[in-house]
Amino acid sequence: MAKEKYLKEEQLPAWLSELGRTNRVLAPREEGGSIVFRPCADGEVPVLATDSTASPKAAIFPASHELFSFAQEKNPDDPEKASLTLTPKIEAEPTVVFGARPCGVRGFLIFDRVYQGEKFPDPYYKAAREKTLFITQTCTSTENTCFCNWVGSGPDDPAGSDVLLTRVNGGFLLEAVSGRGEALLESPLLSDAGDRAKEAKAAREEARKSLGEARDLSAAPKSLLALFNDQGFWEDVSAKCLSCGACTYLCPTCYCFSITDETKGLSGKRLRSWDNCMSFQFTLEASGHNPRPTKAHRLKNRVGHKFSYYPTLHEGLLACCGCGRCIKSCPVSVDIREIVLRAIEHAKAQEVSE
Ligand code: SF4
Ligand code: SF4
Repeated sequence: MAKEKYLKEEQLPAWLSELGRTNRVLAPREEGGSIVFRPCADGEVPVLATDSTASPKAAIFPASHELFSFAQEKNPDDPEKASLTLTPKIEAEPTVVFGARPCGVRGFLIFDRVYQGEKFPDPYYKAAREKTLFITQTCTSTENTCFCNWVGSGPDDPAGSDVLLTRVNGGFLLEAVSGRGEALLESPLLSDAGDRAKEAKAAREEARKSLGEARDLSAAPKSLLALFNDQGFWEDVSAKCLSCGACTYLCPTCYCFSITDETKGLSGKRLRSWDNCMSFQFTLEASGHNPRPTKAHRLKNRVGHKFSYYPTLHEGLLACCGCGRCIKSCPVSVDIREIVLRAIEHAKAQEVSE
């Protein structure tokens, strides 16, 4: 099977329709000024020019979904006795996510270690992960909020993808980067790649150069821990935060959830929905006590989790893919890069003065 193919630009809608015969195809579409992933309609041309506002995480980890339904029946002769029926809803349909960027897809590596780990494998996540393929668009240009190269990634990072798609003259180069990806390239609409791989490689190299030199974040885990009790530092860097949560909802690596029951009498369904650690309610306990009462505590947790606690537990893997969504979409431009770099500098200065 060929690992590289060429797709003419005008054939893209036909190829997506072909994939749509056996899969749900999610592709970027503009809605209300944002670019989001939606089921691709027949003949639709996806928005590929700029990166999506939303990350592709909802394809596998929906913003809200039913885990199971429950029905309780009481014994009319003995109301203290009741039977409970639980019906799990583990449904996953074959899906192709088309046109996400490498940083967004890399986010699933961070999810995998949590939701597919040995201790608490999650059957809902696993089912969706197994049924989903990614045709990822490599970057041939970058934005000033991108810093994927700081976190060990880059404009053509294949991590988590099945096919890499690169815009070349008149169309796209398609490269299979997994066995399942090779099967996706078996279509009469695709032709031999010829020497287009060279053109694609050169464009991606340009994008890599435009990112500038990567900053060294290797001291981040230790530095952030050293500043754990430095409330002044965290108050300073969180001063302008509005606690709106946009950063967490758009982040490809934020994986926290909350559970709610929707009930009707004694029956109902249990839902899992994305949660947001930047909200006051996130750690609010039933007693009224809140271990993270201020936005300084909450931002410390968000940054600390991504650049210190997670990598400490997962062989140094940073829980950030450098996509820059949280910087671009934050209404007051809180910049996570600046916070991490400041933390490294601050901890170093403290060490010297001690
Ligand atoms: S998007 Fe910005 S303002 Fe909103 S919670 Fe995140 S850091 Fe704070
Ligand atoms: S923390 Fe910000 S830059 Fe990092 S993955 Fe999340 S949204 Fe992207």
